[in-house]
Amino acid sequence: STLQEKINQTIVDVNDFPKEGIVYKDITPLFLNPELSGEIVDAFVEKAKGKVDIVCGIESRGFLYGIQIAQKLNVPFVLIRKAGKLPPPTISESYDLEYGQATIEVNSNYIKDGARVLIHDDVLATGGTAEACAKLVEKCGGKTTQFSFIVDLTFLNGKDKLTPFATDIVTLIE
Ligand code: IMP
Repeated sequence: STLQEKINQTIVDVNDFPKEGIVYKDITPLFLNPELSGEIVDAFVEKAKGKVDIVCGIESRGFLYGIQIAQKLNVPFVLIRKAGKLPPPTISESYDLEYGQATIEVNSNYIKDGARVLIHDDVLATGGTAEACAKLVEKCGGKTTQFSFIVDLTFLNGKDKLTPFATDIVTLIE
């Protein structure tokens, strides 16, 4: 079967989590399968080869394949974390959630001027988180040239928020 089919067969839909009416995609069963995880990393690496100078992973599931992608590309891996987790020096970006606000941070020295950045995460939902990451990268002087996600929840139109930063948006399943 194809990589797409294998991912679809492995990811689990959880009803009413974290709130009633929401169908949560649990991607953690992918990590139980080292062979499939290797194929997923290779698929992302193939799409990013020669195009990026830095991989930024979004807390926390974006770290898991993100660092493997960076190592295979032989480029630095940078953590983008929720506010208050990283020691200084950091740069922050705030964005709106359904209820309230969220803030993310990155070490302000790690993204060099003009660096081509891949922003990686597990799931693209509304796109608000990845958009905030692209703004953060911009504040640091970098340029987001690619986004990649395992799953795109297409009915939320997250890509619309990201295309102003980069039109190269890699998603393995929809
Ligand atoms: P967004 O900002 O609405 O695009 O939400 C994306 C963030 O929420 C990512 O960091 C995802 O890890 C997380 N997320 C949203 N929906 C799901 C889901 O169904 N499964 C796992 N993570 C999700």
